[in-house]
Amino acid sequence: MSDDGLLTAGVDIGSTASKALLVRGAEVLGYHIGPSSVNPARTARTVFEAACGGSGVEPGTVARIAGTGYGRAKVSFADDNVSEISCHAVGAHFLVPGARTVIDIGGQDCKAMALEENGMLKNFAMNEKCAAGTGRFLEMMARVLEVGVEDLGNLDVGSETPVSISNVCSVFAESEVINLVNEGAETPDIVRGLHESLTNRIAVLVNRVGLTEPVVATGGVAKNAGVIRALENRLGVPITRLPYGADPQIIGALGAAVVAGRKLERDGG
Ligand code: ADP
Repeated sequence: MSDDGLLTAGVDIGSTASKALLVRGAEVLGYHIGPSSVNPARTARTVFEAACGGSGVEPGTVARIAGTGYGRAKVSFADDNVSEISCHAVGAHFLVPGARTVIDIGGQDCKAMALEENGMLKNFAMNEKCAAGTGRFLEMMARVLEVGVEDLGNLDVGSETPVSISNVCSVFAESEVINLVNEGAETPDIVRGLHESLTNRIAVLVNRVGLTEPVVATGGVAKNAGVIRALENRLGVPITRLPYGADPQIIGALGAAVVAGRKLERDGG
């Protein structure tokens, strides 16, 4: 990629994690993911500076910055404020140009987006009212099982008799999992049951917007291979893997950086 492409940044302040990413032209120079905090303005500055430091970029040389995510209004140094739905659609379409369905599974919400062939957002559905169907649900359950949330993805391997989690509410589901552990249920069967419970919730959103392939999954929970397997089973279609080993958690920040680049071009660079 040329050195003289436009240098832009996306800063995605999520409810759980904050992400900053730098793009020059069509090349991702680097990114940083850090925990969100009660001070989103400071977190935004911290992740942006860390992304710049890691990419060898002087923060003052970034031509345009777009903020997105739950705390986007607090990215005081951003030139643009873009909804996370647009950013996930743009970021997913940037990496997978034919993407028609984007499923973003974040820390405290989940969204399904239907895209036109050209990447334009057609329709979306969102769950932000309840922890079920989000990363928070799995974090609660990982705590009960005394495992790391990053380990859940492999823990369901080998399960042939997944448990059925009957409670939709996370708080009741947590008690249900405690009972299952006490009754001696196998960990893989519980974890697979949890992944299936989560994906049942997500499938409701996907069906609301309509499922069209190729399907891309974004957000931190998309790093959980067990969730992806359960989603593929539930939806009956493959989930397209992101190219270049891209981290699904940075797709919103990527989309923001791409939007910033487009605005810069539109305004004459
Ligand atoms: P938000 O933008 O809402 O803060 P993210 O898309 O950043 O959400 O995703 C955060 C969620 O991703 C958290 O619930 C976290 O537990 C989960 N997560 C992060 N890394 C991993 C991983 N390696 N494996 C599984 N889940 C992960």
